[in-house]
Amino acid sequence: MAVIQFGNLSDFSASCHETLLENLSQDALAQACQVLDVSSSVNSKSVAIEVWRLDQVCQRASGNKYFKQALYWQLAAQHPDLPLLSFGGHYSNHLYALAAEAQRRDKALICVLRGLHQGELNPCLSDLTSMGAHLHFVSRKDYRNKHQQSYLESLQQQLGSFICVPEGGGQLIGAWGAQAIGLAASKKEAGTIVVAAGTGSTAAGIIAGLDLAAARSRQAGDSIAVRRVVIVPVINLHTEDGQQSLSEEITGLRRQLAELNSRQCDTLLEGNYANAVSWQLLDGFQFGAYGKFPAELKLFLSEFESRFQIPLDPIYTAKAMAAVWSSKNLATQASLPQASHNFLYADEKILFIHSGGLQGRRGHGLF
Ligand SMILES: *Cc1c(COP(=O)(O)O)cnc(C)c1O
Repeated sequence: MAVIQFGNLSDFSASCHETLLENLSQDALAQACQVLDVSSSVNSKSVAIEVWRLDQVCQRASGNKYFKQALYWQLAAQHPDLPLLSFGGHYSNHLYALAAEAQRRDKALICVLRGLHQGELNPCLSDLTSMGAHLHFVSRKDYRNKHQQSYLESLQQQLGSFICVPEGGGQLIGAWGAQAIGLAASKKEAGTIVVAAGTGSTAAGIIAGLDLAAARSRQAGDSIAVRRVVIVPVINLHTEDGQQSLSEEITGLRRQLAELNSRQCDTLLEGNYANAVSWQLLDGFQFGAYGKFPAELKLFLSEFESRFQIPLDPIYTAKAMAAVWSSKNLATQASLPQASHNFLYADEKILFIHSGGLQGRRGHGLF
């Protein structure tokens, strides 16, 4: 009986490091970019925004979670008889993507859900069961122990052995997979890449992927295009006791991935690995707090969707898009927060990462 957890990433990924990343980045490159034709309401300059539809990378395992979870499927393949077990809320994009892929791979999945449940299943939970996942509801109090070994062992006693996928897809492991998005982005023209951040693993992975691409170009003697990553946090930036701030988290993951890449790939990313890529947080677009969907954001989202026919999710991508709109002074009926800094650059092409999450719309009455 056992709880299988990810061991040492550098041992594990040696065999698959470059091929898996390369395959994932091809998956990203295969997704459409939709160009928004917009001009600034202030100086009527036109602004080029491309929306990279990573939400369409898989029919159901949409968006960034597809990339973040990739390495867990390597681990799962080593334990063909064990189910996966993971954690999330009642509208979790993470569990949704995991369940979709589990169904495709014919793998059992146990979803440990935050909060007890009564009555009918909501549309997300009901999809999870129809994709074959087993739902295991726990109290909010118990759920807080999700990272504790003793709690995992008690789950194992109730439910049997399993492969554990941490909530949200794990920081370094998740960021590792998100590098594929950065590698793919390096093949695109746009100099500014915009992405929403929850934990920041996706953003860190994108930066590390761009770092890796720049190091490869440098090694090949090619010229290097400077890239900027603009990160829109959807969780208010405060530091609770002992909790790392988002910036520290991103900096730390980026460094760890650079070290790992130096060992695993034939590309050195020493010392100056961070030269070609800069990043900033574009703060102030949480619209109250994580998960809040106030009237002005609703208005922005519905206006955006009827104009461009691109659906956004209320938790992440609508907030990140609103940040772009505000920074670029683009016209809208919605009164958006003022961007504290203008991190987006004049006459710059913007590549907006559509990170998915569309199933979560149903939690806010959108279909
Ligand atoms: C989970 C999620 C994010 C945030 O990813 P992090 O790696 O936690 O920063 C962004 N967009 C969507 C749609 C998501 O589901």
